[in-house]
Amino acid sequence: MDAARLKELAFAQIDKDRDAILSFGWDIYRHPETGYRETRTADCVAKVLESCGLKPERNVAYTGVRARSSRAGGPRLTVMGELDSVICRDHPDCDKATGAMHACGHNIQLSVMYAVACALEKTGVAAQLDGAVDYVAVPAEEYIELDYRKQLKDAGKIAYYSGKAEMTRQGYFDDTDMCVMIHNWPMTGGAKIAARNTGTGFIGKKVRYLGRQAHAGAAPWDGINALNMAMIAINSMNTQRETFRDTDCVRVHQILTRAGDLLNSVPAEVDAEITVRAMNIPALLDANEKVNRSIHGAAIALGGHAVVEDSPGQMPLHSNGEMARLFIDNARAFYGDSEIVDCFPATASFDMGDLSMFMPVLHSLSSGVSGGLHSAGYRVTDEENAFITPAKIVAATVIDLLCDGAEKAKRVIADFKSELTRAEYLELLKKLEKTIEY
Ligand SMILES: [Zn+2]
Ligand SMILES: [Zn+2]
Repeated sequence: MDAARLKELAFAQIDKDRDAILSFGWDIYRHPETGYRETRTADCVAKVLESCGLKPERNVAYTGVRARSSRAGGPRLTVMGELDSVICRDHPDCDKATGAMHACGHNIQLSVMYAVACALEKTGVAAQLDGAVDYVAVPAEEYIELDYRKQLKDAGKIAYYSGKAEMTRQGYFDDTDMCVMIHNWPMTGGAKIAARNTGTGFIGKKVRYLGRQAHAGAAPWDGINALNMAMIAINSMNTQRETFRDTDCVRVHQILTRAGDLLNSVPAEVDAEITVRAMNIPALLDANEKVNRSIHGAAIALGGHAVVEDSPGQMPLHSNGEMARLFIDNARAFYGDSEIVDCFPATASFDMGDLSMFMPVLHSLSSGVSGGLHSAGYRVTDEENAFITPAKIVAATVIDLLCDGAEKAKRVIADFKSELTRAEYLELLKKLEKTIEY
């Protein structure tokens, strides 16, 4: 069967299963779970994949789900969705107990993955392809609830806070040749879909500023003020900003999670969480060094100490150009040229960036939502643009890659220049994880 006929079958199946696809997506929306807690979500994903004739494995990298094609030979492609929600207590639809909320639309990704499974598996299209299609629901894309994740890490249940890093560490992508997923985005200016987007990488930091407690009224001269130390460090970081190149999109942002314990004592312990982001690894390492110098300088200035715990966050995202070109060709069946964006310049971070270091990936953006991601204003405004059309475009792109001897997929793999090998990537994660005492 030729690609056009395979796509017709795929699209017809998505239209036929439209109600099930939408109700699955809204059910996940109504039951948000944050990273490495997505047990109900994973169960729902496993059940819909089973309904497509697949045999999903559960508890992949703690809470993930993976259904592998039994096909041997040919390129192996993964269609991916992310299981986790964010926390957004101001959102009217949030879980009232936990604050969890699908304000990043990962429920839509899972719907798209399910729809692609309907399109390729129920129709027998997958069996007509010359490569294998796997479906993976990945845990913990959002880098949040670090204390909870540290507990999991200390208990030996995970090693990395990001799901795709953890899955890579556990070898789940060892024989995967390429990955495809689509994230939703509040598009403006008439855009309806983007074939790919950029994304910054980041290092996550926990900092404890350590001073000395003393009576704030009676003997402040006996104290070392850890809050002042934090303020000096923050000001020093701000003075570094002119050294960041615009093209590197460096972001340094932070919160104080503990700013003192007693009002009438000089604060002796202050805790901060910091994210350092940049569009490429050298800029990321440079900015991180400047942030650490700022903390060190503040400790010296006040005669205190600081403990910095660095963790690998996520890597800069580089979607594959050839896969994006195929995606655009397929998007033209649904959208006009003015509605299709080749590469959307996002400066958020995505852990698909990790996979993009060592294999070709496509991280596309769909529309149909409004308001800011991760914010109280986030809304799904158009089911067709959010859930249905993106699934058809992804299914068609997978068909193009793997039909006719999988020539296109083989070309993507042959032309791909990795930034790091898988081993180098895992080595970099280890190197980025360190504790420094000043
Ligand atoms: Zn997000
Ligand atoms: Zn997201």
